[in-house]
Amino acid sequence: MFIDSHCHLNFTELRTQLPEILQAMQQAQVERALCICTTLEEFDSVHQLAVSHDRLWATVGVHPDNEGVREPSVDELIELSQRPRVVGIGETGLDYYRLGERSLGDMEWQRERFRRHIRAARQTDLPLVIHTRSASDDTLAILREEGGFGPQGAGDLPQSRGVFHCFTESVAVARAALELGFYISFSGILTFKNATDLHEVARFVPLDRCLIETDSPYLAPVPYRGKTNTPAYVPHVAQKLAELKGLPLEQVAAATRANTLALFQGMAAS
Ligand SMILES: [Zn+2]
Ligand SMILES: [Zn+2]
Repeated sequence: MFIDSHCHLNFTELRTQLPEILQAMQQAQVERALCICTTLEEFDSVHQLAVSHDRLWATVGVHPDNEGVREPSVDELIELSQRPRVVGIGETGLDYYRLGERSLGDMEWQRERFRRHIRAARQTDLPLVIHTRSASDDTLAILREEGGFGPQGAGDLPQSRGVFHCFTESVAVARAALELGFYISFSGILTFKNATDLHEVARFVPLDRCLIETDSPYLAPVPYRGKTNTPAYVPHVAQKLAELKGLPLEQVAAATRANTLALFQGMAAS
């Protein structure tokens, strides 16, 4: 049995095919999937999936790439996170990939938004779903500054946990994220032949800290590369991870499933 720890089933290309996707998930032994929120405007549609389908759960958050959308306050994130079947905060983080004409100094709004998500996660003790692209130094620095991350936690607030999703960074960044108490999630990118650096990361991250995801509708794994991705394809990510680690597929499926349920505790209830 597999769990897809990160997908966007509310996006039009997937939502319109939901019955077929749920059936394909069942056939592929993908028993659960976490639907990730990327704007407050779409929260209701993400949440609706989770309350209407017993194999789906939801998060609340605003993706760093989304500009011109409603800015979430800490209180609003906390309030929405208390809705039934909401099990995490995110996706949030930093993305400097599309800076264009802007400097890093112009991206303070992204860092501020990220900090609000971290504070909401700490106050609710819910896990964070972190998106980081071309911004790993600042991502790690802000997590350290906001505190509370690490094996023992810090300060008076409860230790927060989370996942670096769709990981494409180096072994050094993976090591730093692990030290802060985060899980590392691998997507279909792991199955791409040219992803040799990422293959090294997958061998490095201990199995008890690995999650798997599709990030569908994007990044379909081989042999579906370039097609619309769905949670039913997550076993291909598990298969590649098993191959890289020299472990049986069943062991990788069981471990990533257990890790996902340990992190997103709200998903453990059926
Ligand atoms: Zn992302
Ligand atoms: Zn995503």
